[in-house]
Amino acid sequence: MRLPPNERILAPRGLELNTKGWQQETPFRLLMNNLEVAEKPRELIVYGGRGKAARNWESYFQILESLRNLEGDETLIVQSGKPVAVWQTNEWAPRVLISNAMLVPYWSTLEHFNELEAKGLTMYGQMTAGSWCNIGSQGIVQGTYETFATIAKMKFGGTLKGRISITGGLGMFSGIMPHCITLNGGVSIGVEIDPERIARRIELGFVHEQVDNADEAYRRAQEYAARGEARAIALLGNIADVLDYYLEKGNHFDIVTDQSSAHDMLEGYVPGGMTYPEALALRRSDPTDYIRRARETSVKQVKAMVGYQRRGAMVFDYGNNVRQEALNAGYKDAFAFPGFVEAFIRPLFCEGRGPFRWICLSGEESDLRKTEAAALHEFGDDEVFANWIKLASKHQPIEGLPARLGYLGFGQRAHFGLVLNEMVRSGELKGPVAISRDHLDTGSVASPNRETERMLDGSDAVADWPILNAMLNVACGATYVAMHNGGGVGIGYSTHSGVVVLADGTDLGAKKVERCLTVDCGMGVVRHADAGYDIAIRTAKAKGIRMPMLA
Ligand code: NAD
Repeated sequence: MRLPPNERILAPRGLELNTKGWQQETPFRLLMNNLEVAEKPRELIVYGGRGKAARNWESYFQILESLRNLEGDETLIVQSGKPVAVWQTNEWAPRVLISNAMLVPYWSTLEHFNELEAKGLTMYGQMTAGSWCNIGSQGIVQGTYETFATIAKMKFGGTLKGRISITGGLGMFSGIMPHCITLNGGVSIGVEIDPERIARRIELGFVHEQVDNADEAYRRAQEYAARGEARAIALLGNIADVLDYYLEKGNHFDIVTDQSSAHDMLEGYVPGGMTYPEALALRRSDPTDYIRRARETSVKQVKAMVGYQRRGAMVFDYGNNVRQEALNAGYKDAFAFPGFVEAFIRPLFCEGRGPFRWICLSGEESDLRKTEAAALHEFGDDEVFANWIKLASKHQPIEGLPARLGYLGFGQRAHFGLVLNEMVRSGELKGPVAISRDHLDTGSVASPNRETERMLDGSDAVADWPILNAMLNVACGATYVAMHNGGGVGIGYSTHSGVVVLADGTDLGAKKVERCLTVDCGMGVVRHADAGYDIAIRTAKAKGIRMPMLA
């Protein structure tokens, strides 16, 4: 097994190729970019518990070497983070096909996965970690910002000014919540067990100060709220213990949510009643006892969240499967509060809207600024999108290769892809642009406790949709396509696909971009129309999507 490199991994910049073409260079740069923005790069962990970019260092270096030698009509096959074969295909075929953590459904449990992983046979790819399209914390900033803005509109007269929220976890994505609460004018207490994660969020500017005492954190939060000051406080502690403590004391919170890595009871979530070093020691010495205690902690946490809901707070599950863990551990009311997709996001999915993103492979900030200007020119009348791009351009630090994320819908994505391709062709941009999205998107995921929770027709667990989505992207010329198990909510609880397509300024590139970006979110409209959602049926009819059931 090779060791991690001594120096920090940085994605290549500039126009000099490390491979035989931009189609191969795209996965080459984006794999390295994933590790450039990763939470724990020396362990190949990008985010979300143990969401990895490659099985081990040997696999990582073999992937890069394979890409260096790959021809423009060949395809590299990656099985759970390990490169296993190169095949002759054709120039329309993806340059890389990836499958991560897939298990036969009956065996698709965390326990079985842990056994296989310990034998070195599989890898957890989360969503964007193992499919090499992570762009750092920005990946869910807009979605998180919109979630809190929606809550502000629904419950608090359009602003979180003077409101106090409490959130769990300050990791790559969990650490975004305080930032977005601040952007909406509110005060937050972000509870995190690992001091290093707190330090990182303070460094990134997402959190303003650290407090180690719960009473002091609450006192400060009240002061800031009374002054109408937007402020993010990090509290070192365990979210279950802290929520329980505050509930007992009768402290009030307006919003309660959590994104500790509860989808993974061994490597993600930390049991209560112990310090972080104690928890890490127990994780190694007695994993079975660790998982038992973690599950007990999830019950304590979800009980406290339900307690806050009963007191009138806005409480929701933020996509980490903590309700399911508490239910499995015997707490019957665990699903008393809703999941965030059902509560806030689904209407967008019905229109094919979701977290579209583009990454400037040249590494030039000027390319990013030009693409932002083009996005505002094309979609200036899309108020939510335009406001977001202006806000992000000003406040979002560049992490890794310059990238921008913005929610775009069916039709908009294909149109913008072609605009980007033209900007590359004309030389307005210095280099090609990779286009991707989160797996948390309109047509790419089956996840009954999250993206497909309580679907209108009860089709929550039907997993044909993401598989069809991936196959269609392959058929339409994507640069690489991935299928994963367990992203967001843990092994066995979700099936989802990822895709990257390249705007390289060529005619062929234009065809691939237009087709992929049409079918990819188009399948989201189809999936929701098929489930009976009016907005999706109207969108499908208005946009001329050919669905036999609507003919
Ligand atoms: P991460 O592993 O980088 O961060 C999670 C943080 O939670 C870590 O810093 C960890 O120390 C902390 N933590 C774990 N147990 C804790 C406890 N009991 N009390 C306090 N802190 C605790 O993961 P991430 O990328 O931030 O993702 C967090 C969770 O959200 C995961 O379950 C992930 O699958 C899910 N997720 C949700 C979305 C979404 O859109 N809602 C998107 C991506 C990921």
